[in-house]
Amino acid sequence: MTASVIIGVLALQGDTREHLHAVAELDAVGRPVRRVDELDSVDALIIPGGESTTMSKLAVEFGLLEPIRKRIAGGMPVYGSCAGMIMLASTILDGRADQVPFGGIDMTVRRNAFGRQVDSFEGTVDISGIDGGPFHAVFIRAPWVESVEDSVEVLGRVNNGPAAGRIVAVRQRHLLATAFHPELTGDLRVHRYFVEMAREAGKTTEG
Ligand code: GLN
Repeated sequence: MTASVIIGVLALQGDTREHLHAVAELDAVGRPVRRVDELDSVDALIIPGGESTTMSKLAVEFGLLEPIRKRIAGGMPVYGSCAGMIMLASTILDGRADQVPFGGIDMTVRRNAFGRQVDSFEGTVDISGIDGGPFHAVFIRAPWVESVEDSVEVLGRVNNGPAAGRIVAVRQRHLLATAFHPELTGDLRVHRYFVEMAREAGKTTEG
């Protein structure tokens, strides 16, 4: 018997709908999360792309900052894309002074790293652990990962262009982050990988 894993998508701001669509394609149950009781009902959480400064402000206003931090500390699988990656970082460069991340991944990310002139950038990224060839990655005012601690596994770097070699996909145990937006290109492999992480975590908790 395999009960469907319930994947929440943080719905304070950003491209929540696209992530919910991706989850629905993958035989998992997707639910928007705006309130603490909604957070309590999910097995895993996706933090969408959007604007991390606004998301951080709303997380505080909606009383979600500490509850999400607690779930992260308790082992809930979380995937952050773009702004979501920033929300999972322990340290943010070029952030706003009042910006508070959830944290969880021991990394330093730089906001809007691809530069002001190049608002968006497309490239290819190979992700270790995900077969099927490189991702066509769309970066929209995206961060990159400036540095990681040893606890963090680097899963992918930009293959080409001016940002070649920059880290844009990482995993630390139950936490996954990409600087790009697979939810916008219809490539479901990152979401499939994450749903699998959530299923595995569920098995461990059930014993
Ligand atoms: N620049 C945005 C931020 O700082 C992230 C952009 C995105 O999620 N597409 O949060």
